[in-house]
Amino acid sequence: MNVLIVEDDALLADGLSTALRRASYGVVHAADGRTADQHLRGGEFDLVVLDLGLPDMDGLEVLRALRQRKQPVPVLVLTARDGMDQQIESLDTGADDYMEKPFELRELQARVRALLRRGHAEIREKLRLGPLEIDPFARTARLGDAHLELTLREFEVLEALMTQAPRVVGKTRLNQRLALQAEDIGPNAVEVYVHRLRRRLDCSGVFIRTVRGVGYSIEYLE
Ligand code: CA
Repeated sequence: MNVLIVEDDALLADGLSTALRRASYGVVHAADGRTADQHLRGGEFDLVVLDLGLPDMDGLEVLRALRQRKQPVPVLVLTARDGMDQQIESLDTGADDYMEKPFELRELQARVRALLRRGHAEIREKLRLGPLEIDPFARTARLGDAHLELTLREFEVLEALMTQAPRVVGKTRLNQRLALQAEDIGPNAVEVYVHRLRRRLDCSGVFIRTVRGVGYSIEYLE
């Protein structure tokens, strides 16, 4: 699950990023409206936490542009204290929820969880392929009767493949997904995680096929 935090207050942004990373979300931070808009045009996010008062392009403009592009990603707006007008306007513009500053981090985390549950109602279903079963929301995986111990990035790659199975997922796309989890991603990161996943899936009938020059697909042979 990847969250875009749009907040120009560095201290608050830092606190939010840390809290959400600790809860195992991939976090990208944008400190102004224009950067946020660029991220949203290019990236795949599961949730946006959006401050309204921003340099360059204010939060409502970012939200309006997002909804005009018909991007359905859930948006949690952060408003000023007593910002009743802002709250109404942001809901009218297409926000899914709002919180008044200052707020408790714990409350924000609860709202984030609720929005992600709603936004992902369609993928709350577990994904299955032969003996492999993954739960995208709980971030757990099973192979037959055994729990499959995966790192965050291994899970990210596996989830991307399972969502598209048996279609091929492009290497660039997998790299982008990994880059959302951390910035220190090398050019061969995908190969490394695919290699590790193959070892874990060994002898199960589930295998990851390399499509040369394109990417990977996950398939099952009984
Ligand atoms: Ca602000």
